[in-house]
Amino acid sequence: MCNRVEIYDTTLRDGAQGEGVNFSAEDKCRIAEHLDALGFDYVEGGWPGSNPRDAEFFERARTLRLEHTRIAAFGATRRKGTTCETDQNIQALLRAETPVVTVFGKSWGLHVTEALRLSREENLEIIADTVRYLAARVPFVIYDAEHFFDGYSDDPEYALATLRAAAEGGPARIVLCDTNGGSLPEGVARATRAAAGQLAVPLGVHCHNDGELAVANTLAAVEAGAEHVQGTVNGYGERCGNANLCSVVPNLELKLGRETSVGRVRLPRLRTTARFVSEIANVALASGAPFVGDSAFAHKGGVHVSAVEREPRTYEHIPPEAVGNRRRILVSDLAGRSNLLAKARELGLALPEERRVLEELKRLEHGGYEFEAAEASFELLVRRMDGAHRPFFDLLGFRVIDEHRGSEMPMSEATVRVRVGERVEHTAASGTGPVNALDHALRRALEKFYPTLADVRLIDYKVRVLTGSLSGTASLVRVLITSGDCESRWGTVGVSSNIVEASWRALVDSVEYKLLKEGAEPQTAAPGVQASDNGFEGARPAGGF
Ligand SMILES: [Zn+2]
Repeated sequence: MCNRVEIYDTTLRDGAQGEGVNFSAEDKCRIAEHLDALGFDYVEGGWPGSNPRDAEFFERARTLRLEHTRIAAFGATRRKGTTCETDQNIQALLRAETPVVTVFGKSWGLHVTEALRLSREENLEIIADTVRYLAARVPFVIYDAEHFFDGYSDDPEYALATLRAAAEGGPARIVLCDTNGGSLPEGVARATRAAAGQLAVPLGVHCHNDGELAVANTLAAVEAGAEHVQGTVNGYGERCGNANLCSVVPNLELKLGRETSVGRVRLPRLRTTARFVSEIANVALASGAPFVGDSAFAHKGGVHVSAVEREPRTYEHIPPEAVGNRRRILVSDLAGRSNLLAKARELGLALPEERRVLEELKRLEHGGYEFEAAEASFELLVRRMDGAHRPFFDLLGFRVIDEHRGSEMPMSEATVRVRVGERVEHTAASGTGPVNALDHALRRALEKFYPTLADVRLIDYKVRVLTGSLSGTASLVRVLITSGDCESRWGTVGVSSNIVEASWRALVDSVEYKLLKEGAEPQTAAPGVQASDNGFEGARPAGGF
């Protein structure tokens, strides 16, 4: 058995079928370039002729400078009662001028007679004829046997007959598909072995994730003889998604010892690629995503932390760096001292007054703070106690007004007063809600001194009411904010009995952390800076209302 396994990505076609996932032609080009840099063998771009966006992609794809990846166009076998010459979709596949064409046909009697209303023999002819026609005109033809595993359990003889019909046409690969995603690994392995026993063409596998087994089924097929795997980045795809290549590839490389074109050298790009595609898809990458998620190598319990620090293999299945991830030590009062010290070391902080920091942390946690998702606030806390920290600005105050008139959308206005060096800035801004207005006003006030604050975006905002924390009608709220710029993301936290105040604290930490991260220096000579505190009436509210 050949040790090498080919990687075929269908994020741009099957992945784009996922709910909420949408790619423009430009997005598709950028993703294709990233997947090329990671080393994938094939990137399937879409259905030429199905929509103008895919047609634009295939046109632009010809000018992409790809090192390794070959672009594939995807389509169906010819329709009943046509020839390949007259079938518009087959002709669109040729016009895409891709080095690879993937064509799918039916392997399950149920689909042949019920969905296509063909005789079983007609279906075999259509498959053989289409593959033969394309193989004579395209350098590399892949045949996807749709519903192969369901077809095989229904009628193994007929399912295998469809593969033999495809093989007659001379394809480069035949790919066995678990289109409904409900197969189990043992059945996949058995059917793959049966197919491998009858065909000389290298086999591939394409699994959907409806039983949450797409990765397991893919690996089972590989162990049974498949040499080509199809899937998507982050497992995007219709319904429950496709086999997640961010899990398939490291499992092949690191667990099964198989060779892929990604290789151990490029595998550390995996996490960046997963994040890049999730940004473009505008779908947040799950924190618990295996291998590439933020939590994949996060440790919380105190015993785990001290063990993993001594010997990583105690609680880590692979070194995080192998896939470009990193170990994270989560701060929690459960874990106590060893976690705090490990976290401080991770941040590269000296803790001259360890005990004081630990006590302050416990006091804040008792008061409702939680730093697990707010590493930036934790780092600021330690630095503020350290004594060497110089604040980037002083907060003099803020005010928020909410207004709801008749049937209009409610609006909020916020004013903030900050001092940077000798200068006091008093700024007002509006927003769709009090937090949004405060965020605008705070950043508008500070952007004059620190222009890079313009890059900061609020990515997520979560509020939790801490029940039973105060007596009577008042209760504490904890606000967690995730912010980001083009390079990284960070979490901050604020707690108060007032939701606006809690949000304000988290916002201020977010801004302060960004400045800390960059070692920012204020641009006090910037034009438009007001040098005096002349109160709200005299200050110019920055545009917008
Ligand atoms: Zn599929």
